[in-house]
Amino acid sequence: MSKRGIIVTGGGHGIGEAIVREYLHMGMKVCYIDHQNKLDLESENLFFYKGDLSQQNDLDSFVSFCHEHLDRIDILVNNACRSHKGILSGCDYEQFQHALSVGLTAPYYLSLKFKEDLMKTSGNIINIASSRAFQSEPDTESYTSSKGGIVALTHAMSVSLSGKVRVNCIAPGWIDVNNTVSFSKEDETAIPVGRVGKPRDIVSMVKFLCSREAGFINGETFTIDGGMNKRMIYHGDHGWTYSCNDE
Ligand code: NAD
Repeated sequence: MSKRGIIVTGGGHGIGEAIVREYLHMGMKVCYIDHQNKLDLESENLFFYKGDLSQQNDLDSFVSFCHEHLDRIDILVNNACRSHKGILSGCDYEQFQHALSVGLTAPYYLSLKFKEDLMKTSGNIINIASSRAFQSEPDTESYTSSKGGIVALTHAMSVSLSGKVRVNCIAPGWIDVNNTVSFSKEDETAIPVGRVGKPRDIVSMVKFLCSREAGFINGETFTIDGGMNKRMIYHGDHGWTYSCNDE
């Protein structure tokens, strides 16, 4: 009997790694691409492709690799992204294009290449954005633009692929991908749930969105940030102070 299959970009570390491990544990076949990190994990159901998502040749070879190793494709997770800062530090044309190529063009292109497979299985595409799609720190234009783009790509594809493939997006806040032992009290208290996120917080949402229970959810982006984006901050209120550098 053919095993269900999932494809994850940037699966060699962090959130992508957690998704790879969880779906492998669930008994699915997993293909992942990463240009740097290979997991220290062996399984007959796990297939690693070393490649760079900013290169079309690598994307095409990865598509063939997935077709070769997976019996069927049920889920595509567009997880990887790159940042080259922004307008204050002079992020140039090529750097900006590079950020978009990894964070936006690759997700589109892989969705294009796997859409027929996903239609056959009534599958799911999960895009990973960031809370930075909706709020900013200074000098983050390249990353923020690719994240805003992937939110829009999500709703566009959900309409184009309607009735065949559900497409949803997750916008994480601060997720500790390095298994840090402790954070400062201030950092934890700043987040309304009182802690920094863990990769498993994102994995849970991926699993829910791909489940039958989420069958009426399509084209949406869900912010998973412990409530951070809901906190209103005024200088002098609730112990918050703001200092201006140009004084
Ligand atoms: P990470 O850096 O821990 O892992 C990303 C993986 O992607 C790495 O293994 C890296 O080698 C790979 N990768 C990067 N560029 C690549 C390329 N060009 N080709 C192939 N592989 C490439 O990242 P993470 O923190 O787990 O982030 C995963 C996703 O979640 C990203 O889209 C990120 O923007 C988003 N996100 C993360 C956080 C957070 O706090 N960790 C917050 C918001 C959004």
